[in-house]
Amino acid sequence: MINYTDRLSLLMEDIAERVPALSFIDMERVLVFARSGRSDAEGAFATCHCVSLPPSEPGYYFWRDRGTGKLTRRSEWFVTKSPDVKVGSQSIDYMISFTLPRFCDQTLASSRKETHYPGQENWIAKLDTVVHELYHIDPERPGIRRMERADGTYAANCHGRQFFEDVVGMVQTYLASKPDPRVYDFLRSTHQELSARFGGVAGTSFRGFPSYPQRYTEVLDPQPDVAADMACRVEPLKVPRVTTCWNEDDLVMREFLPQTSRQLIRKGKDRAA
Ligand SMILES: [Zn+2]
Repeated sequence: MINYTDRLSLLMEDIAERVPALSFIDMERVLVFARSGRSDAEGAFATCHCVSLPPSEPGYYFWRDRGTGKLTRRSEWFVTKSPDVKVGSQSIDYMISFTLPRFCDQTLASSRKETHYPGQENWIAKLDTVVHELYHIDPERPGIRRMERADGTYAANCHGRQFFEDVVGMVQTYLASKPDPRVYDFLRSTHQELSARFGGVAGTSFRGFPSYPQRYTEVLDPQPDVAADMACRVEPLKVPRVTTCWNEDDLVMREFLPQTSRQLIRKGKDRAA
């Protein structure tokens, strides 16, 4: 079986080496994993998740009386935090997920990407997506890259026209650097072609699939003292129990089939106890 997420990681490493604008990326701190998405269904091809954001400022939800404007009740104070993700001793700052098999079947034809790559082959759409996700990594601070507008302020949307054009430029830079075709050749094949050639398409996923590390809410303990004008009923905050620390033991291999996916059992000495 082809380990699709491993291939994507190696490709991203090569891109970061060859494209100066992405050379700040340390792929040791980026985990590539697979989610499921059918090729014949609408949805994202890939997503960039930041798992290194600092905790939010403490906050609470509140309700006011419409007439007097006075606080009538509020929730407990809480913060939102990034999960702690490690592979061995290596901390992970970003995760990039690819939806399989949908991503394997992404094409330029009939997509808005086609106008950016006139006359180029279909698989370039996948390379564009890979570069797109890398470009979301912010070079200056943990988080998703903010796009600066001409007037120096930041755009609310991280997907402006400039973003797409920058990505096209980086795809051209990468191809012009004459990378070894063995690094990107797997992008040329559809899911069906890869399955026929390798006997299946597999990728790294998290145990407990389809769940994966996400930001979570934590109630502050102890709760801060508050001013007298905040005296009102305090509602307990119901936060779901979630896994907040993840490591390599949470990673499993899954095979991605056209309509479904299944966890693969490790063989030999690696077999789980
Ligand atoms: Zn994006």
